[in-house]
Amino acid sequence: MKLIQSANELQKLLDIDRAEGKTIGFVPTMGALHQGHISLIRLAQKSCDVVVVSIYVNPLQFGPEEDFEKYPRTLNEDQELLEANGTQYLFAPTVEEIYPNGTEITQRAGVVGSTFEGASRPGHFDGMLTVVNRLMELVQPNAVVFGEKDAQQVFIVKKLIGARFRDCEFIEGPTLREESGLALSSRNRFLSQEERSDAESIYHHLSQMKTQLEAGAAVSEVIAEHTKAIETAAKAKLEYLAVIDPQLFRPVDDKHRGPAKIIVAAKVGEVRLIDNLNVKAING
Ligand code: AMP
Repeated sequence: MKLIQSANELQKLLDIDRAEGKTIGFVPTMGALHQGHISLIRLAQKSCDVVVVSIYVNPLQFGPEEDFEKYPRTLNEDQELLEANGTQYLFAPTVEEIYPNGTEITQRAGVVGSTFEGASRPGHFDGMLTVVNRLMELVQPNAVVFGEKDAQQVFIVKKLIGARFRDCEFIEGPTLREESGLALSSRNRFLSQEERSDAESIYHHLSQMKTQLEAGAAVSEVIAEHTKAIETAAKAKLEYLAVIDPQLFRPVDDKHRGPAKIIVAAKVGEVRLIDNLNVKAING
């Protein structure tokens, strides 16, 4: 595997691959890699000849009170894991390589970008889209892979790719979970033993909600019941717990029919976690 820090060098190497007729798959990450990331790399490998993984903790998508400084950075371990999993290129650029003209927002996430995650983290999606756009311009991949774990990110990025990188296939990877159901996340390492079991219990609530909704329970009642339960039993500080229409990323009401998605964000101790679960059909 080649570790590349310069945008120029990356483009030169990828041009050679393209000239040889190879297709390029791209998996953008912020590092502190776990098996969830590796599962996305496998998907990229399935559909492309060469895989580029980027590791870049993007300052533009963190608010002033957020954990940019504390975000885990484990480049050596990440490198070993990528090497062991057959990645060809690790692109780990500096801020100057990504933003040669200064850290300015160039992409806006629109209305959906200011709800849920965007309401809790103002400006987050504009920053995320700006870096994804820049990385996509550099890599020009044939396929890009994102995880369903970040459902709103997928919703927003898919639109960018459809509008600006039309020849690129958009691949969504399912969320990899521990046996307990807890979604793998780079931030899980900060959970204490007790907090971990609180985090796990949030997933159990999502599963119960899914069962209740698929059995025909009213959306508003299910949300009310589990909001209370998570905040008391799980000792988590909920930022949102909602049931949305996956086509619109907007909350559904009790009359909704068809597929839906339960989305949640909560702080367990100091650790902010997000998760989601698909509901096959409500009132189906
Ligand atoms: P991050 O490094 O957290 O920005 O994540 C990089 C990519 O990995 C994103 O597309 C995430 O949605 C995806 N991802 C994060 N956690 C998981 C997981 N548990 N399973 C599958 N994909 C994940």
